[in-house]
This record gives sequence, C-alpha cells and structure tokens, in this order.
Amino acid sequence: MTRHILPHGDWPRLEQGWVWLCGAGPGDPGLLTLHALNALGQADVVVYDALVQEEILDWAPQAERIYAGKRGGKPSPLQRDISLRLVALAREGKRVLRLKGGDPFVFGRGGEEAQTLIQNGIPVRIVPGISAGIGGLAYAGIPVTHRDVNQSVTFVTGHDQSGQTPGSLDWEAIARGSQVIVIYMGMKHIAQITGALMDAGRPASEPVAVVTTATTASQQVLETTLGTAVEDVARSALEPPAIICVGRSVLMRQVLDWQALARGETPRNLDPLGRGDAAASA
Ligand code: SAH
Repeated sequence: MTRHILPHGDWPRLEQGWVWLCGAGPGDPGLLTLHALNALGQADVVVYDALVQEEILDWAPQAERIYAGKRGGKPSPLQRDISLRLVALAREGKRVLRLKGGDPFVFGRGGEEAQTLIQNGIPVRIVPGISAGIGGLAYAGIPVTHRDVNQSVTFVTGHDQSGQTPGSLDWEAIARGSQVIVIYMGMKHIAQITGALMDAGRPASEPVAVVTTATTASQQVLETTLGTAVEDVARSALEPPAIICVGRSVLMRQVLDWQALARGETPRNLDPLGRGDAAASA
C-alpha cells in the first residue's frame, strides 16, 4: 500500500497475530517514523487514541479503525479493556497496529499495554515516536536544551492516575534542580503547578510557553511568565492538549520562531539571551 513511498530496504513485515505499538508523533503526519508508516501500510486493524490525527489514519485505508480514546466528555475506556482488546485482536490472527500520540513510552501508558501483551504471549514491536514535549516545542521555536540555558531537562506530568496534580512529585526538588521543566497534561492544574514552583523559589518573571495542538495547523503558542500564566491562559481561552515549558529556553523563540519567519515575519530579537554571536563563544 504505502510501501512504494518507503525508501529501499528490508522493511519489517507486520505478521498476523502481532501487535506493533507505534508512536504517531505530536500531530503533523510528516513527523511519523518510517516504521510507523510501514505499519500503517500493512495493518488489518488500527487501534488509535484521541491525539492521533485522522489524516494519519488515511495512510491505512485497508484497515479497520478502532477508537480507544475519550469522546464527548465520557471517560476513556479502561486501560485494561484496551490492552485485552489488543490481545483478543492478535489472537484472532489480525495484524494489529496500536497507534498512540507522540511516543508510546512517554506518558502514554505504552509500557502497561506492552506488558499485558507480553504477559499474554503476544509478540510485539515497539516503534518510538516524536514526543510532544520535544517536537511540539521545536515547532514553536523552543529548543528543549540550549547550551546557554540548560544541561538538563525535566519531563513532568501534571496529572496522575487520580487526575490530581501528582502528589508523588516533589515540586520543591523540581524547582530547585530542574533548569527547564516540560509539563505534559498540565492545563487543568496550571495554577497549582506555577504556584508550587514560585513557592519553591522560581521567580515570577521566569519565562513560560504554552503550546497547544502543537505541529498541527491549529497550533497556538502563548508566551507568558510563571507569575502571569494562569491569568494569560484564562484570557486566551487556550484548550488542551498543551505542552507547558518553564525556563529561559522559551526566550529562544524570539529568534527561532521559524514558522513566523516562513510567513515573512522578521525575528523579534536576534540575541534573546544577550550572549552576542553564538558562534564566537564556541
Ligand atoms: N505520549 C505522548 C503524551 C501523551 S499524554 C507524547 O509522547 O507526546 C497527553 C499529553 O501530551 C497532552 O495532555 C499534552 O500535554 C501532550 N500533547 C500531546 N500531543 C500534543 C500536541 N500536539 N500539542 C500539545 N501537547 C500535546
């Protein structure tokens, strides 16, 4: 099906009774991996989540589509039910593609699904994807690491299984030790999260970016600060899915907003960190 557009090479075959657990990337179909594309061309059935763009499924016109995400405010199907559905499909002898937004092993419960499959004797292949916290920020012109800013980055979920701000997270330690903090699923609890970071000593003036539906045509980026994020998000009426980035790397967007440059805008600031010529300090 799609084989003809894959580069030459020996691409793996999705065999009957197998489940391939693939990342679909953050949205833009161009951010699929070739392994994911290869899987889309072979699958009998695609079990996909809410964050997977419909146009990506068009790469699998032959496949049955099974939606496994939230819809219309209803709770998402239980994780166990999804995993067992995958087991059942594989046992029917289907070529099963389990497609998840971003990377299946980054806040995506891919580990749980793969574990259940393997516990049930189902052969699996894992295909990583571009995670929203890296690729989504890149589409906003924010490098998740930048030599003048950070030598580490912390990926955090703003939700735990109970839907609360994760009680298991030590926000004080994160505030103290994390140069740049990338928060998934943080919109609902943005007030608690920004409050906890400031209580732990992060300045209210620290740059924050909120990137919604990153890498899609409806991507929006809000540049704000820890102190003003709650108010600005409320005023902007931005909706999830959103990645929140806390740290000075957000300033790099002033020069690296490549989508704005492609539209003909000029960079707002060629040297937002005030370091002079980057090459000169190499
Ligand atoms: N496995 C996914 C994350 C799943 S958790 C990954 O690696 O990207 C779901 C959260 O991911 C969302 O609440 C949001 O915080 C983030 N997310 C996923 N896709 C996104 C997108 N296109 N734009 C912004 N945030 C996104």
